[in-house]
Amino acid sequence: MRDDQTEPLRHYVDGEWRSGHGTETFETVNPATRETLQTVHRGTEEDVSDAVSAAESAVEEWRALSYIDRAEYLWDVYHELRDRTDELGEIVTKECGKEISEGRADVVEAAHMVELAAGNARHPHGDVVPSEIPSKDAYMRRSPKGVVGCITPWNFPVAIPYWHMAVTLVEGNTVVWKPAEQTPWCGQTVAEMFEDAGIPDGVFNLVQGYGEAGNAIVEDDRVDTVLFTGSAEVGHKVDEKIGGRAGRNACCEMGGKNSVVVTDAADMDIALHSTVMSSFKTTGQRCVSAERLVVHTDVYEEFKRKFVDLAEDVTVGDPLSEDTFMGPLADEDQIAKFQRYNDAVRDSDDATVLVDRAELDAEEIPEGHEDGFWVGPFVYEVDADTDLDPFHEEVFGPHVALVEYDGDIERGVEIQNDTEYGLAGAVVSEDYRQINYYRDHAEVGLAYGNLPCIGAEVQLPFGGVKKSGSGPPHAREVVEAVTERTAWTLNNS
Ligand code: NAP
Repeated sequence: MRDDQTEPLRHYVDGEWRSGHGTETFETVNPATRETLQTVHRGTEEDVSDAVSAAESAVEEWRALSYIDRAEYLWDVYHELRDRTDELGEIVTKECGKEISEGRADVVEAAHMVELAAGNARHPHGDVVPSEIPSKDAYMRRSPKGVVGCITPWNFPVAIPYWHMAVTLVEGNTVVWKPAEQTPWCGQTVAEMFEDAGIPDGVFNLVQGYGEAGNAIVEDDRVDTVLFTGSAEVGHKVDEKIGGRAGRNACCEMGGKNSVVVTDAADMDIALHSTVMSSFKTTGQRCVSAERLVVHTDVYEEFKRKFVDLAEDVTVGDPLSEDTFMGPLADEDQIAKFQRYNDAVRDSDDATVLVDRAELDAEEIPEGHEDGFWVGPFVYEVDADTDLDPFHEEVFGPHVALVEYDGDIERGVEIQNDTEYGLAGAVVSEDYRQINYYRDHAEVGLAYGNLPCIGAEVQLPFGGVKKSGSGPPHAREVVEAVTERTAWTLNNS
């Protein structure tokens, strides 16, 4: 039934497409038009339980295969991702509203991750370790944890699931995955790829649904590891539930309150490019998007004038059109959150609003898309010591604060670090002493120099510190999370 789009989307459990135990369905909409995209079966605790049972039953045979045999399935998936990049990129764009080149980039990044994980199957795993006894062989070996639950957000609906699942599967674990409620069509297409690759029944399982299905994964003691990417609010709950349960672990990658620091030695063109891309690309809905621009007093007025002009000129457009810079927000909740934070700034005596295009005029909205979740940039200036919530919490939209700082780079970095989060940050400077200071003192997992605060490469670690991350569910470091280490010694005499 998977090809019949008149049927609600289903779960994929134990190698079968299933409607599940529940009677409820939900609908998804295209954020650019508000048109209904899909009707989806809403997964229940029992559906998750079935998926975990299937994953548990499949572990022994799957882990008994060689790394290289397991990777063969992933290579098939890799080729499907490459062959179906345009098709899947369009689904990404329709479901989460990011513009089409970013929709395709999401799929390409997924392919890169699969390539890395499958390629690594032929690389050494573990270490040969010297022993004090000449006749003893000593090794550090890795073995799979077992069943891994993957819970993912809507903003990178193809890349992030593969960041979780590719390494996990190659290492010999089986998977139960819950995609975000906004992006089940991507979920369905990813599942089709595993089905087409002929992955053994139960090795990969998909349960569609809401947070309750994610929670059921977390609550099921048969799930050995939970890999979570999403908001800090949910991620910390996941951490709390899993923490302390013997043999289980959770790795959560969460949100950020990211800054770009523009120093007195910045190249102004690079500073403007870096900040506009960091704050407005993907409509500010990347985990690494910058919501604070921390600018040295010597260049502040020039920067402010030029940045404000650019923010006034930012246009929104049909995300399926190749020349669109900014698409809509993802859904009604995102709109409500964005407007709530904008209101808090408008109502505050601490802040001065510089650009307020939060509600766009009718003529700014692309024709035929009047019902979409459209917003424009919102820019304000504020003192670094403000306790205004929007300055400290993740907004996740084109909402940005300008802060002026005096003194040396130390002060700029201090303002950046003054947050509970620690995901990403960028510095713009032509002075290598400043750059080096930033590199050594920025309390972030992802630091960019003279670049926009966006972008990831699968061969680099991806993850935050402080409140932004409790482990590496992303990139090659996921190996740590989904395997156990054993010190194995053998008497050879
Ligand atoms: P979210 O609301 O936290 O949801 C993430 C996933 O968790 C979704 O699948 C969600 O299901 C599920 N979920 C919700 N409640 C749950 C519960 N109680 N137990 C278990 N799972 C539950 O995040 P989002 O709005 O989808 O994504 C945006 C957030 O992700 C932002 O904060 C962004 O910074 C962060 N993010 C971080 C990274 C990173 O690498 N650090 C990357 C991308 C995004 P539903 O969809 O049904 O709610």
